[in-house]
Amino acid sequence: MALMITDECTSCGACVEDCPQQAIDEGDPAYLIDGEKCVECVGWYEEPQCVAACPVECIVPDPARRESREDLEAKKEQLGRG
Ligand code: SF4
Repeated sequence: MALMITDECTSCGACVEDCPQQAIDEGDPAYLIDGEKCVECVGWYEEPQCVAACPVECIVPDPARRESREDLEAKKEQLGRG
């Protein structure tokens, strides 16, 4: 599943540069992850880079976007071609 940023976010911006999918944007008041782009870093890294970067641990799985590893791999493929 894609990840989401909760309202614990302090808008520090630490996660933005680390996202290989460029899925994170500045929002108001919290930053936002584009669930259409987030692949949980599958195919890029062992673990989600934004989760590792976030100093307040406010990035969590989005319960509204449940995707299997296969789904995420297919999504990455599709976005790569787009
Ligand atoms: Fe980007 Fe990876 Fe975080 Fe998804 S898990 S928003 S692809 S850094």
